[in-house]
Amino acid sequence: MTETAFDIVGIGFGPANIALAAALEERDTPHKVAFLEGMNAPAWQPAMLLSGSDIQNNPLRDLVTPRNPRSQYSFINFLHEQGRLFEYLNLGVEFPLRKEYAQYVTWVARHFDRWVRYGRTVTDIKVGGGDEQYVVSTACGEAYSARSIVVAPGRTPLVPPPFEGQESERLFHLTCYLPRLEQYQRRHGTPRTICVVGGSQSAVELILDLSARFPEANIVNVQRGYGFALKDTSPFSDHVYFPEHVDYYFDASPASKAAIDEQLKRTNYSSADGDVIRKLYLTIYEQKLDRVERIRILTNTRVVSVSEFKGAPLLALEEIHHHQESKLCADIVILATGFRNLGPDPSQERFPPILASIADRLLTDQAGVLHVARDYRLLPRRPEVLFPPIFLNGLCETSHGMGDAGSFSLLSLRSDLIATSLEAALADQSTLLQAS
Ligand SMILES: Cc1cc2nc3c(=O)[nH]c(=O)nc-3n(C[C@H](O)[C@H](O)[C@H](O)COP(=O)(O)OP(=O)(O)OC[C@H]3O[C@@H](n4cnc5c(N)ncnc54)[C@H](O)[C@@H]3O)c2cc1C
Repeated sequence: MTETAFDIVGIGFGPANIALAAALEERDTPHKVAFLEGMNAPAWQPAMLLSGSDIQNNPLRDLVTPRNPRSQYSFINFLHEQGRLFEYLNLGVEFPLRKEYAQYVTWVARHFDRWVRYGRTVTDIKVGGGDEQYVVSTACGEAYSARSIVVAPGRTPLVPPPFEGQESERLFHLTCYLPRLEQYQRRHGTPRTICVVGGSQSAVELILDLSARFPEANIVNVQRGYGFALKDTSPFSDHVYFPEHVDYYFDASPASKAAIDEQLKRTNYSSADGDVIRKLYLTIYEQKLDRVERIRILTNTRVVSVSEFKGAPLLALEEIHHHQESKLCADIVILATGFRNLGPDPSQERFPPILASIADRLLTDQAGVLHVARDYRLLPRRPEVLFPPIFLNGLCETSHGMGDAGSFSLLSLRSDLIATSLEAALADQSTLLQAS
């Protein structure tokens, strides 16, 4: 019979909870631990594993090194154990290929097979058993009881209006890219026109990937901005990825947080690395020389509405400053439109959807947005009520700043703080239950 009662249940086993597993193991946790992962095997952002694309973080900011540079789970030890260390060093690259980093993430994850149950998509979380534990349900009909949970499902893809509700096998977010592309090819053959919406790093990577895959296809990029902007790689701006910045940001007022975000957003958002921007510019230029202009970049342009023409997505476009209208019919539309953070705006979400059944029991701000404490714990709305410990791992950009979420940069340190607070909370819970 499958064991289903645990002290700690982690929901999702991506980088955030893999880093937590390493932190728990390295502190010899006495607790019974399980991680429930929806995919059938470990993988890091598999739908965007594009040939030639590199990672966006310093590789030493891996799953463990900032927390414990002597950990066996470091990227350097991975290279050493694969027998690739010297060849890797010979590459002389600042950032390894995403393929290699994905292999590293999988390699670390595989060390925790005893704790992880793959193919378990969590569908609901409730508090049961006299308010002392969680009941975590999965799509395959299992129910796990947990004295505490750490929720790390990654961010929800942002599908903004007018695309909301229009997703199909031909119109999808980049988190579905490779599987949907393969599906399209199997059913319909080679696409002739593909539209990429957005002005980010991922948008540039997608255009380059599509143009290499389908040299005969027309690729149209639609973006509201003036053109692809360079990422802010100033070492001064990159202090956003320092641990001290998290404290600085966490204690700032909402207005200050907004001002800091505005100044620092180009370190990670609405921008792309110089290498891919230059590669794209050169590709477009060469196509002009060859008089076969396959790639078109429609800047200062917004998508007004989406409809269908003979089964294909039809986009109504508007040039933002001169208001010319046009239409674009594409075989495939890919949304490089980002992810939702916690917040009250329409592009945000008040709580992660997976917490729907317990959200009304958790502390929020006046706008109903989940309050995330400095140690990433979620607090009960009524503090006098016994409520089992719950932590959010990786969904804290609004509260802790962009250095602490949506990136590898600080997740090893975050997992250390979560592990410390989690074990203390479990010890308190045992004391309280014994006393009651
Ligand atoms: C294309 C792309 C490239 C990126 N490149 C970089 C980069 O180079 N450097 C960098 O620092 N950051 C990068 N990021 C940011 C990235 O989000 C983080 O690096 C990292 O993946 C965050 O880890 P996570 O565990 O929080 O989330 P995720 O990686 O999203 O992992 C969440 C996990 O939870 C599982 N899950 C979700 N819901 C459930 C459920 N209900 N039940 C069970 N399991 C569930 C998912 O299957 C997944 O395995 C990139 C993001 C994208 C989309």
